[in-house]
Amino acid sequence: MKAGPILAGLACRCPACGKGALFKGYLKVRPICEVCGFDLRAADSGDGPAVFIILIVGGFVAFLALYFQLNYTLPIWVHLVLWLPLTAVLSLILMPVFKSLLITAQYHFKASEARNSDTGHED
Ligand SMILES: [Zn+2]
Repeated sequence: MKAGPILAGLACRCPACGKGALFKGYLKVRPICEVCGFDLRAADSGDGPAVFIILIVGGFVAFLALYFQLNYTLPIWVHLVLWLPLTAVLSLILMPVFKSLLITAQYHFKASEARNSDTGHED
């Protein structure tokens, strides 16, 4: 049974079968799925996960900092102690998830590199 790309992505599983682990270690993509043998060497999310992390975690933490500053007027050192570690922890937690989501999305939508011969039209 083919796994849904969002569930497989959230679980950091193989985009083809949804069962095999996608990563070997923290962020290194396995060359081949151990369950279904799917070739994962072409999987490349590039800078996409980092961009999503910057936009989502950055926006979330900036909102929290502004909210607490406007409502409680915290000293600057409290902001540094609260938001810097929170930013680091959220980024580290979410990075594999976003990388996995982008790889499963690439597989699901059959993404490939653009070529000069590609016209964008189906023949
Ligand atoms: Zn697999």
